[in-house]
Amino acid sequence: MLYGFIGTGIGGGLILDGKIYRGSKFVAGEIGHVLVDKNGPVCGCGNRGCFEAIASRTAIVNKIIDDIKSGKKSELIDMVKAGERIKSKSLANAVANDDKIVIKRISDGCEVIGGVLASLANLMNFDMIVLGGGLVEALDSFMLPKIEIAFYDHVLNASAEGLKIVSSKLGDDAAIWGGIALAEEFLGLKV
Ligand SMILES: [Zn+2]
Repeated sequence: MLYGFIGTGIGGGLILDGKIYRGSKFVAGEIGHVLVDKNGPVCGCGNRGCFEAIASRTAIVNKIIDDIKSGKKSELIDMVKAGERIKSKSLANAVANDDKIVIKRISDGCEVIGGVLASLANLMNFDMIVLGGGLVEALDSFMLPKIEIAFYDHVLNASAEGLKIVSSKLGDDAAIWGGIALAEEFLGLKV
């Protein structure tokens, strides 16, 4: 399975045959830096057009800020004017209030997320993709169906067979559970 974190950035983890797969230098699962658009915005890693630079919450918020600055209407205008940080909860409220700009930008993000996940599913033939991170947690019922549409549009039929895409049940606690599992594995403890 693949775990994908969609929030401030985009990260991921691979569990293959029941075990975390780390790769030869512990980098495996770094899905955030898959190239999506070589002419896209600059990523935190220094390259252009990485998945994270296009579909993370930060990337989506940057697009919304540009829209608002170019005169488009959104309920987030006061936050943008005040230079406040726009978090996932504010985006979820805007979606609930039918804010067209926010809906458009998050929908565009879902299209990219679905497409990238389809490429990864073709590579790895997963049983399951679990999505978490602040943006997905705040907006899973809005985002998941949109991600699935783009996913099934791109994926090969054989790669999609029996595959489930679900949102994380552990939420923010996933990291601490992961830390416990790591300690158990490396130190031979049973917590
Ligand atoms: Zn990058």
